Amino acid sequence: MIVLHTLSEYRNLRRNFSSEEQTVGFVPTMGALHEGHLSLVEQSKRENDRTVVSIFVNPLQFNNAEDYEKYPLTLKKDIQLLESVGCDILFAPSKDAMYPRPVELQMEFGAITSAMEGASRPGHFSGVGVVVSKLFNIIQPTRAYFGQKDIQQLCVIRQLVEDLNFPIQIVSCPIARNEKGLALSSRNQRLSPEGLELASQLYRTLIITAEQSTLTTPQQAISVGLQYLKNYPDIRLDYLEIVDTIQLKSLSSFTVREPFVICIAAYVEGVRLIDNLIIQA
Ligand code: AMP
Repeated sequence: MIVLHTLSEYRNLRRNFSSEEQTVGFVPTMGALHEGHLSLVEQSKRENDRTVVSIFVNPLQFNNAEDYEKYPLTLKKDIQLLESVGCDILFAPSKDAMYPRPVELQMEFGAITSAMEGASRPGHFSGVGVVVSKLFNIIQPTRAYFGQKDIQQLCVIRQLVEDLNFPIQIVSCPIARNEKGLALSSRNQRLSPEGLELASQLYRTLIITAEQSTLTTPQQAISVGLQYLKNYPDIRLDYLEIVDTIQLKSLSSFTVREPFVICIAAYVEGVRLIDNLIIQA
């Protein structure tokens, strides 16, 4: 695997791929890699001639300084993991390489960011939009792979690509979970064994809420999920929402035959975790 840290090094390499008409799959990450990230890399490997992974903990998308400072950095291990799945190129720029001067650019995504992560983390999606746009311009991929775990981010990226005409196909990948159903996340590394156990109740809550969807209204289903969570007072809920999969608007009934998604965000041992379950109609 080739490891690059500067934009110019990558651009030189990218020129060769263009001349050979090779397809490039791209997986942007913030590192502290786990099986979820690797499943994206593997899918990209299957569908492209070359696969590029980026590791960059993007300061612009953290609205909480402590969360940024505590974000796990495990570059050596990440390199080993990426080599084990046959990643071709790792692009791991420094903060100065990505942002040589303070960024003034702000991005607004309107309605799709009005609730959930957009409401709880002011400025987050602007930071995501800026870094992803920059990475798309630098990497120039044919396809880019994003996890459904960050479903609102996926919708934002789709909108970004459409609005700015990036010639890139966005590929949405399923959520990788552990044996207890807990969605894999770099932030899980900050949890104790008890915290990990407790965190798997987020997935249980999604399942229990989903089970109501044939019987009741979205509001009632959410109430059942909230009632279940009361058994776990150490989980501090941010939101439990049922929304459509395109505009991420709150669902008012289950009668429309359209897929929907149940989304949860909560703090366990002070660590903010998110998860969701897509239900096909
Ligand atoms: P992150 O490093 O958390 O910014 O994530 C990088 C990419 O990996 C994003 O597209 C995430 O949605 C995706 N991802 C993170 N966790 C998972 C998971 N458990 N399953 C599938 N994709 C994931």
